[in-house]
Amino acid sequence: MGNVDQLNRQVLNAYWIVVAMVLVVEVLYFLFGNSILFRNDPVSLLSRSLLIVGIAGLGELLYACFRRYGRQIVVGVSLTIAYVNYLILGLYTESAPGILLIFPMFIPLIYFDRRMLYLFGALNIGLYTAFYFTVERLLYGRGFENFLLLEFMLVSSLLLSRTVLVRAIEIGRQVESLTKSQQDMIVDKAVSQRLLKTDALTQLYNHGTFYEYLEDLVDQCRRNGLQIQVAVLDIDNFKKINDTYGHLIGDMVLKEVSIRLGMAISPNDFAARYGGEEFAIIFTEKTIEESASYAEIIRAAVQGANYSYMGNHPVTISVGMAGYESDDTAETMFAKADAALYRAKRSGKNRVELYDRSVDTVTRRG
Ligand code: GH3
Ligand code: MG
Ligand code: MG
Repeated sequence: MGNVDQLNRQVLNAYWIVVAMVLVVEVLYFLFGNSILFRNDPVSLLSRSLLIVGIAGLGELLYACFRRYGRQIVVGVSLTIAYVNYLILGLYTESAPGILLIFPMFIPLIYFDRRMLYLFGALNIGLYTAFYFTVERLLYGRGFENFLLLEFMLVSSLLLSRTVLVRAIEIGRQVESLTKSQQDMIVDKAVSQRLLKTDALTQLYNHGTFYEYLEDLVDQCRRNGLQIQVAVLDIDNFKKINDTYGHLIGDMVLKEVSIRLGMAISPNDFAARYGGEEFAIIFTEKTIEESASYAEIIRAAVQGANYSYMGNHPVTISVGMAGYESDDTAETMFAKADAALYRAKRSGKNRVELYDRSVDTVTRRG
């Protein structure tokens, strides 16, 4: 919309330039010309000048009041100015300054509006026919060949405008579809990147992405003294849930747990589905005690959630946690948390355990 307003403004400005040029011609002819009509007649000079300034001014007024019809006003004013100027300049020249009538034929081009071009073209051609037989022929005694010539120019400029417009619209469409397919490609890329990083069932990050982040963060711990903790969460007796209620219900439980998990962590933490019924979290910017209390909140939330779709069968999780220690790698951190998880399982499940080097045995998982 703003763009069309700008175009309208530019055309209206162009009218003022045309008006100024006609005024200059008027004055020059008044001073040095040898036209038989109105020569050295200041009153008629003044009235003609006022007329063309008045039309442009009226155009401005209409445009200011009815901005919604900006195009129609601009087009209407261009036609009126063209005819008035044609009439005035016709006083000074032998042949008609037909270019003035042709100029408005190109105005609809700027709006990319084919319908407007045809309507306006037909109007202009019809108007000139009427103008010739009522004013031009009688007032200036201009010959029929002049009429034919100008009509010919009007029709050809209409055809030329049409060709330009058709081509411009065609190119516009091509650009549009190109932009569209480019946008589609960007969206597709973003979606596929997301799919590559996340787990389809839970929408949490997947195993591969978890390790990528963990490795990066462990690197940061080593270089910059960042503190992170890893938690490994495993649903207790999940096999039994699957066996009793079926795989689909099992999947619903996995989703439920992942939602609880996602809700509990803070924006700087990182939750992933590690695999099967196991999840992993990387906590950042926290002490191990703070992270452990987050894990405890998750544990309690999973236990307290509503599992009415399987007769409120209890669902609990066990959690093992380990904080970064110097010389840890992503693998050793995970293994320590896993060792703590193992202890949590052995000592009764449904609990959070922190890695303790004096009791936990770190083993690598296959
Ligand atoms: P524990 O308390 O010791 O963790 O026992 P558990 O039964 O939870 O552990 P186990 O490793 O024996 O069983 C895990 C089950 O999780 C086995 C597998 O069929 C199931 N499972 C793994 N991935 C999915 C899944 O995507 N959907 C469903 N419904 N089940 C899954
Ligand atoms: Mg398991
Ligand atoms: Mg389990």
